Amino acid sequence: MARYIFVTGGVVSSLGKGLSSASLAYLLKSQGYKVRLRKMDPYLNVDPGTMSPFQHGEVFVTDDGAETDLDLGHYERFTNISSKQSDNITTGRIYSDVIKKERKGGYLGKTVQVIPHITNRIKEFIKKDITNEDFVICEIGGTVGDIESLPFVEAIRQFSNEYGKSKTLFIHLTFVPFLKSSDEIKTKPTQHSVKELRSIGVQPDIIICRSQQSIPLDQRKKISLFCNVPIENVIETVDVRTIYEAPISFYNQKLDKQVLKFFKLKPKKRANLSPWKKITKIVLNTKKSVNIAIIGKYVNLKDAYKSLDEALVHGGIANNVKVNLIRIESDNLKNSEIKTKLKNVSGLLIPGGFGKRGTEGKISAIKYAREKKIPFLGICFGMQMAIVEFARNKLKIKNAGSSELDKKCYPVIGLINEWDKNGKIIKGTDKNLGGTMRLGLYEAKLRNNSAINKIYKSKNIRERHRHRYEVNNSLKAEFENKGLIFSGMSPDNKLPEIIELKNHPWFIGVQFHPEFKSRPLAPHPLFSSFIKASKNHK
Ligand code: GLN
Repeated sequence: MARYIFVTGGVVSSLGKGLSSASLAYLLKSQGYKVRLRKMDPYLNVDPGTMSPFQHGEVFVTDDGAETDLDLGHYERFTNISSKQSDNITTGRIYSDVIKKERKGGYLGKTVQVIPHITNRIKEFIKKDITNEDFVICEIGGTVGDIESLPFVEAIRQFSNEYGKSKTLFIHLTFVPFLKSSDEIKTKPTQHSVKELRSIGVQPDIIICRSQQSIPLDQRKKISLFCNVPIENVIETVDVRTIYEAPISFYNQKLDKQVLKFFKLKPKKRANLSPWKKITKIVLNTKKSVNIAIIGKYVNLKDAYKSLDEALVHGGIANNVKVNLIRIESDNLKNSEIKTKLKNVSGLLIPGGFGKRGTEGKISAIKYAREKKIPFLGICFGMQMAIVEFARNKLKIKNAGSSELDKKCYPVIGLINEWDKNGKIIKGTDKNLGGTMRLGLYEAKLRNNSAINKIYKSKNIRERHRHRYEVNNSLKAEFENKGLIFSGMSPDNKLPEIIELKNHPWFIGVQFHPEFKSRPLAPHPLFSSFIKASKNHK
């Protein structure tokens, strides 16, 4: 029978609940337990798919095509367990399910209320799709005390009562600030946050205290006393030098030990920390570095390309080099600036994107990388822009473009078509935008002896997609005659999945998002190869 661990946050947001949950999951998994991670988000969007990265950072995509919170990316990267649609839920989805049921008369004449109908739906989510897992770690987004998160906290309180107190554990993550002026560590915000949590019926079993420096025993005793938690369960987490140190740090602070003790369990085997130690060493000590430029609309926003940033670091780990990201804002990028901006750059990456703003700068930069033989990786929108650039400058189709950006571009149907699902064009513009893209794992067949075939060492691959438009296959022969080959296709040969340039050291575009499948302990071959080529570029 599964044991449930609920993780809440207090005092301020962005304390690293996702990373803490993911690290705990790794530690439990490596001690022989089967773990599942879930996230409950209190916002009203049904999923984050329609949100701008300015709001919530990257939208992470699962194998089964769910557009989810980026914390699921942390979970996957740390545990190597693929998340599913059923692992992320939002207030928006809960309400929309409940209201749908109400419209069908599913509540048999009752008044539909937050308690019990919304809380029941949350409890259903918590238990859904769980089979032989030993632990289910459920993180609640937001901060305790927010109006939005109340139904979730109420639901986990009820859950613990019904499912059994010995089978549910509450972890509360708080912030313990250091006040320079008085040279003191302050526990009051933690006390208040726990008071807030207790006022809605949840007594934490473990408190994780995020702090910039180690918390002296006296202060920990104070937290233990005021918050009613045994001193061994007041766990400190001091800022780590790299996120890969987090599992090691939590192990040293005995978080996993206290969790197992609570459930009266013993490790089935010893926790294996050596891969994290190895990675931490490489990340912190590597002197050699490579400059990779990334041109996008949201480059100045920390979490907008989270998985991508991580995948590049993983590529660096595989090649023993540090990756310096040169972030270039695409919005006002002028043609005349490209040369200077890309001066000391050994690799260019154009990531996924939506909409016209900033596209011309990206296209010019791709032209520069193609002509100057700088390693180039185009992801999704980045690949589409590489196709447009090549069509304009090599096939001489001056008005080549994507129908996403310009309805009048060449050819009439658009060089880049809207996605055709089972013979039906999915048009986001006059239909719902949410959840209608080509999402999740799709297969691609790779051409024998192509660069991509050598990189993957395989003929068939499955990667995660998130796009509405497709490269129009009708000009394939023209592209290939000029040296740009379609080296990966959908199994029915209709949709170009991968393009690559002959006579170039490394120029690849992919219609999917390889970054979602890269792991620190198993860097993605495409990123390893891209960083290797960039490392070799003079
Ligand atoms: N906007 C493009 C499309 O919808 C690319 C999407 C992306 O880069 N994820 O096809």
